[in-house]
Amino acid sequence: MADAGAPPPPSAEHPLRVAVVGAGPAGIFTADALTRQSAVPVAVDLIDRLPTPFGLVRHGIAPDHPKMRAIRDTLHRSLDHPLVRFVGNVEVGKDITLDELRRHVDAVVYTYGAALDRHLGIEGEDLPGSLAATDVVSWYCGHPDADRAGVEAALAGIRSVVVIGVGNVALDVARVLARAPEELEPTDMPQHVLDALAATSVEEVTVLGRRGPAQATFTTQELRELGELARATVLVDPAELVLDADAEERAAADRGVARNLAVLREWSRHQPEPGHARLRLRFYRRPVRLLGEDRVTGVEVERTAVDGDGRAMGTGKLEIVPADLVVRSVGYLGTPLPGLPVDQRSGTVPNDAGRVLRGGRPSPGEYVAGWIKRGPSGVVGHNKHDARETVAGLLADAADGTLRVRGPVDDLVRTLQDRGAEPVLLEDWRAIDAAEQALGASRGRARTTLHEREALLAAVRAAVGR
Ligand SMILES: Cc1cc2nc3c(=O)[nH]c(=O)nc-3n(C[C@H](O)[C@H](O)[C@H](O)COP(=O)(O)OP(=O)(O)OC[C@H]3O[C@@H](n4cnc5c(N)ncnc54)[C@H](O)[C@@H]3O)c2cc1C
Repeated sequence: MADAGAPPPPSAEHPLRVAVVGAGPAGIFTADALTRQSAVPVAVDLIDRLPTPFGLVRHGIAPDHPKMRAIRDTLHRSLDHPLVRFVGNVEVGKDITLDELRRHVDAVVYTYGAALDRHLGIEGEDLPGSLAATDVVSWYCGHPDADRAGVEAALAGIRSVVVIGVGNVALDVARVLARAPEELEPTDMPQHVLDALAATSVEEVTVLGRRGPAQATFTTQELRELGELARATVLVDPAELVLDADAEERAAADRGVARNLAVLREWSRHQPEPGHARLRLRFYRRPVRLLGEDRVTGVEVERTAVDGDGRAMGTGKLEIVPADLVVRSVGYLGTPLPGLPVDQRSGTVPNDAGRVLRGGRPSPGEYVAGWIKRGPSGVVGHNKHDARETVAGLLADAADGTLRVRGPVDDLVRTLQDRGAEPVLLEDWRAIDAAEQALGASRGRARTTLHEREALLAAVRAAVGR
């Protein structure tokens, strides 16, 4: 017999209220999976600390990859769903605490990504002219929190760049810095970014891998693109493509590795071309320290050999690679939201198939998806499967009564407004979107990203006449 005092199960009149924290791909796929089913009536608040949705699809995917960035159009369909309310410009942990948020809803799904850069932990890393890939990417994508002055100062007058790391993000950074201004001109980068990049004349970009070409994590598509730049020639030392037996085995077992090696072998025949920047891919080199007094002048690297387990072992042979700018691209890390556990080593929220674990046990009403659930790797599409798994757990908990609709609660947006916050709702985001497209059109482009938070909010205020 039903317990007369128990809260009712979710219904169309009293849907399960779910807050999703982070409107990147994982958050949007979570909202999508929640609203695609009809077994459990839901109402979703999709919260983001920025006034804009899409997370790293807006502020990570390289602006010279317009086809990839067009995934926004697909994601937007989920934002448009009547049961989803976009609540931007609200930082959970700052504008509202986790406890307060949980009092407003029946369940929370954390999808706030993993935005912190990993450090190399070597001498000189904090010198001017040493940046994290996150700094550079945030800047060229127009993230409101990017250190615009810092990055532009680091770029001024540079001739040679070292990018440390051989993943796709490292290649993004190397490619953007080696591109000719006319190649970047049609992108949605903020105008001051285009101007700053056009003012640099990079002559040499060196991408450094600790291990060999068989262990690099870039994909062949990203790699090949380096060979298509208008004014840069990719150079590879053929000696670094000679594989030992383990690497040969790896190449035989993994078609991606074999394809990468084929591309690199072709490039190993390249010679520097007059008038072109040199884009060198170098392997078996581990950074030991960054050199320089007032700013970076180079990287001291140690030659390595790869052991049977695929680990880079130092050989003691040191060399110097000169550089005016060093960009480290050695991975991202998730950080805790105040009040939420995060495993320090993996930078993820402890979970069992998306149910948040506190003290090793599932915490009722708390879920996690995306990079903060499984770590910072994988493409946009991976977050879809991941979000579905999490939502399946949430819906099962609603079906078996673990999750219930609590009594009437104050509306989240009203609460935020009452305390002086300025939530950006879907119509407001549309005003930003329209302003960016209009700005782009005035310069013959599809869009120009508004960089500063104030500029984004000004577009909202202008549209609603506030
Ligand atoms: C530089 C770079 C380039 C990439 N390029 C590609 C590519 O070309 N193709 C591809 O398929 N994948 C690419 N990826 C991977 C892809 O971007 C990720 O798989 C995906 O964005 C992860 O989704 P997420 O939702 O977990 O995190 P995110 O995309 O990081 O979204 C997290 C969201 O949470 C918000 N947030 C953070 N903290 C709070 C808080 N306290 N309160 C409220 N909101 C908060 C953030 O503002 C953000 O919008 C790239 C990644 C990077 C870093």
